[in-house]
Formats: sequence, C-alpha cells, structure tokens
Amino acid sequence: GSELVIKNLHANIEGKPILRGVDLVVRQGEIHALMGPNGSGKSTLANVIMGNPQYEVTDGEIWFKGENILEYSPDRRARMRLFLAFQYPMSIPGVSVANFLRRALEAVREGNKPVEEGENPTGRMSKRKTVPPGEFRKLLQEKMRLLKVDNSFINRSINDGFSGGEKKRAEILQMALLEPEIALMDETDSGLDIDALRIVSESVNAITGPNLGILLITHYQRMLNYIKPDFVHVMFNGRIVKSGGKDLALELEEKGYEWLKPSDEENE
Ligand code: ADP
Ligand code: MG
Ligand code: MG
Repeated sequence: GSELVIKNLHANIEGKPILRGVDLVVRQGEIHALMGPNGSGKSTLANVIMGNPQYEVTDGEIWFKGENILEYSPDRRARMRLFLAFQYPMSIPGVSVANFLRRALEAVREGNKPVEEGENPTGRMSKRKTVPPGEFRKLLQEKMRLLKVDNSFINRSINDGFSGGEKKRAEILQMALLEPEIALMDETDSGLDIDALRIVSESVNAITGPNLGILLITHYQRMLNYIKPDFVHVMFNGRIVKSGGKDLALELEEKGYEWLKPSDEENE
C-alpha cells in the first residue's frame, strides 16, 4: 500500500521556524491521531505536506508512494491521492455542492494522464469532462448513502450559510468521493460543536478501511472515544515528542500535555 514518509521536516513561516524536525510515517489503512497544544505546529504540518506555498521547507523530506514530493505543486499532490480537509473551507456562492464535487473529482482524475507542472494552469477548475455524468451520479449517490447525506444538501450552494457541522459534512463527502489514499484531516481548534464532532466521527468510521490512511489532527480527546486510532502522536513546539497507541490518548485526557513539554535546553 501507499506510504507517506516524513523525515526530519523543518519549515518556516515568514522566516520563523515552526516545524523543527518532524518524523512520521502514515500508511494506507492506518489511523493516526495527531494531538498537542494550540500553536505546536499541527496545522503547519498538514499545510506543508500539501505544499501550501506560504510555508518554506528548510530541511528534511516528504515521500509519497516512493516519490519525493517536496517540489510538487498542491494540485499534483492531490492528483497522487493525497487529501487535505481544510479547517475553513471557502465559501463559493452560486456553486452547488454537487457541482463543486464534480469539479474536484475531475481535477483529481486528470492525474491518470501525465500532467507536467504548469501545463494545466486552470488546475482544479478544469472544464474537461473526464467524469461521465452517469458515473458521477452513481458514485455520488453511493457516497451520500454511506455518509447519510440527503439530496437537498448537495443542491445547496457550497458553504453558503453552512453550520460547522454542515461544512464538515461537505468536506467529508468530498473526501469520500475522491477516495484518497492518505487523507489529512485538520479539525478546528475551536468551534467544532458536539454535532460537528459526531458527524466527523461517524463519517470517518464510515469511510475508513484498508485503502485509506488518515492523519487526524485534533484537540479533542473526546473524538477518540468514537474513532479508534492505531497510533497517537503528540506534537510540542514543532516536533513529535511522543507516539503511542490509543492508550496514549487516555493518558493525555487524564494528565494534559504539560508533562510532555521538552525542557528549554532541548528546545534550542
Ligand atoms: P496548531 O495547529 O498546532 O495550533 P499552527 O501550525 O497553527 O499550530 O501554528 C504553529 C505556529 O505557527 C504558531 O506560533 C502560529 O502563530 C504560527 N503560524 C501559523 N500559521 C501562520 C501564518 N500563516 N503566519 C504566521 N504565523 C503562523
Ligand atoms: Mg492552532
Ligand atoms: Mg491547528
């Protein structure tokens, strides 16, 4: 199966070091929970893995399916079936959820042909019909059933007046449809209400299986009562300072994070 391998990753934002040597391997079929206090670099890690140009990689490597992807564009990474569920999906008035999903699927399907960097400047919004309408409808219906999403939902404008829970539902529907091999799910630090938490948990459980590896970034130990991770990692100050099984999440629930904080000397 596919593997995402992160080696000694260092990254800066605006010249400020944020990631300071991250090592992590996520394989298809595994669920990894990434936890840690606010500001420790969890979202930065997800952004760097997806190739967000705001972040500068200063050292280390990211390998996916045996290729060093550090120089690849975000679109190319997505076409390789790496997926990032965004913290704050943008609102696109006038585009229905169904149409948005079709475009997203078409963009990823371009990956079946060799597309060189810069060759397709229209990227995600390509109008090429690479997904026959009948096939799209069938696939969408299948995923909607799986995630218990009804028809009225996919006809609404994307994120237009969506609640936190509905945004999550759209995101996870997109993820189910694109069938990534490795998915990064970054939950918001705040504002994920009980409803959204439950939707995320149930949906993740519905789509996990041998073909999907997940790195689930979460502040909420509570979520791990619903989703059973194979591995739990704690990030502190730009490094993974502890890894373990799901029992580590219970330990964190009991003891918090402070006991894992590296000493100042170790930080320098
Ligand atoms: P987490 O997701 O663990 O809460 P983040 O990766 O969001 O942590 O942030 C790590 C550090 O990087 C924080 O100190 C934060 O202020 C800083 N940071 C994150 N994104 C940006 C950005 N776009 N510009 C400047 N600083 C940022
Ligand atoms: Mg944060
Ligand atoms: Mg974050």
